[in-house]
Amino acid sequence: MAKAVAPEPGSLEERAVAAHRAYLDALVAWERTLHRMNCALCGPSDLSENERAEACDAAEAEKEAHRIAFRDLCDKLGFVPTGHDVALPAEDPSCCKSSASPR
Ligand SMILES: [Zn+2]
Repeated sequence: MAKAVAPEPGSLEERAVAAHRAYLDALVAWERTLHRMNCALCGPSDLSENERAEACDAAEAEKEAHRIAFRDLCDKLGFVPTGHDVALPAEDPSCCKSSASPR
């Protein structure tokens, strides 16, 4: 695989890479929220069923907004920027699953 050159600051590609990072962050935050809201070990115990569902919906909406922003930038760019060190953020160490390997 060819080594990617760092995109020009402020360029469409750089914005797409930033949007990709934001999307992955939101994706992980969403998964974390889903887990927390359904976990007896690390989830908040003082939330009602409704509040849990709302927290999941809000996190999913956030994730979707970032996904769409990223996709739109990729559409404008004409390709999906890769090789810019975009990786999934580390697991939340406070979560009960943090020591388990991801799926
Ligand atoms: Zn948990």
